Amino acid sequence: MLTLRLASGKLGPRRGSDLNELGIIEDGAVLCLGGKIVSVGTTKDALRDPWIRKHRKQLTEIDCAGKVVIPGFVDSHTHPVFVSPRLVDFEKHIEGASYEQIADAGGGIRSSLEGVRNAKTAALTERILIAFKDMAAHGTTTVEAKSGYGLTIESELKSLEAIRAAAHRWPGTVVPTLLGAHVVPIEFQGCSQKYVEIVCNEMIPRAARRNLAQFVDVFCDKGAFTPEETGQIFAAAMEHRLSVRAHMGQLSETALAPFLRYKPASFDHMDHVNSEDVQHLAKLDTVATLVPGANYFLGLKTYSDARRFIEAGVPVALATDYNPGTSPTISMPMAMSLACTQMKMSPAEVIAAATINGAWALRMADRKGSIEPGKDADLAVFEVEDYREIPYWFGANHCQITVLNGVIAAHD
Ligand SMILES: [Zn+2]
Repeated sequence: MLTLRLASGKLGPRRGSDLNELGIIEDGAVLCLGGKIVSVGTTKDALRDPWIRKHRKQLTEIDCAGKVVIPGFVDSHTHPVFVSPRLVDFEKHIEGASYEQIADAGGGIRSSLEGVRNAKTAALTERILIAFKDMAAHGTTTVEAKSGYGLTIESELKSLEAIRAAAHRWPGTVVPTLLGAHVVPIEFQGCSQKYVEIVCNEMIPRAARRNLAQFVDVFCDKGAFTPEETGQIFAAAMEHRLSVRAHMGQLSETALAPFLRYKPASFDHMDHVNSEDVQHLAKLDTVATLVPGANYFLGLKTYSDARRFIEAGVPVALATDYNPGTSPTISMPMAMSLACTQMKMSPAEVIAAATINGAWALRMADRKGSIEPGKDADLAVFEVEDYREIPYWFGANHCQITVLNGVIAAHD
């Protein structure tokens, strides 16, 4: 059992060599009650516990002998609110078109807008729920879910309502994020400021008032939103007591220092970052969330430089970036495998990045990301003998059972 407990008891997101410490208990046992973890130790101790002996008949026992138990994955970056896969874009990529060329030809994010704008909330809910269930089948128990394929006030709020409705029907934990600033919609091309005002003055206040989002996200990059616009949107989010996170450095480098006063929970992608910003982030709890699935799917030769972040002491998380254009995967083990082979992270580091640091990236580390008393009963049981097999067997799913807030879901 990988508890992810740090022996030093050090607080804060995992950095540097702490990412390799998995808190392994051979022949471990975990007792969960009422959706919470109550005690963690060896099976021998659990079987001697007087309370367990007295109540054993009322408990549901899962025999994990010969298997690996880990905290459920925290997928801290997904875009599940869309209607169709983008198969024409897929073919164009293969033929050699770039991300920008596809966007200019009417593909990319904009091509998903029509489907979402025309969809009924219930239809979106069903699609999101299918994704959540599929994620759980691969070991994920907490998901951050972004809107961002509607880009009108109505369709962004509808997307967040669909996320909420799907969350109510799934036993795992869902963290909703308003990504009204995903891309400037075609109606506002050449007058992006007008659209930014709608995001700041309409979308954010309405989402906040109805408690539909915990975070506000911005895609800050060339072809999306400028640093100035991103600052405006962050300020509006703060005014409405929403936390912020951003897509940063996917296509080009942006200076991060001006955003740090908004205390972003996470900067995601981070393929292009300058050295000064790396030094800044090493001193903060803002997590660098790396999404190698996007680099893989776009066929890029380079990936975010995970080793540079880890060696500098920047906390690193891993996420799927599940979305129809650049990363159509719900599989955290696949993202972890890519992080090992393409970003040279160790199997231990990818486990920590996919669990406890994902929890930090969502500001939920008090409840998620490790197997410790008091935390939510979120577990994943893998039918492997060694945790290193989880990223090793790429493209196959060895998750057998997931426990989501105490609810057991079997997947075989
Ligand atoms: Zn994204």
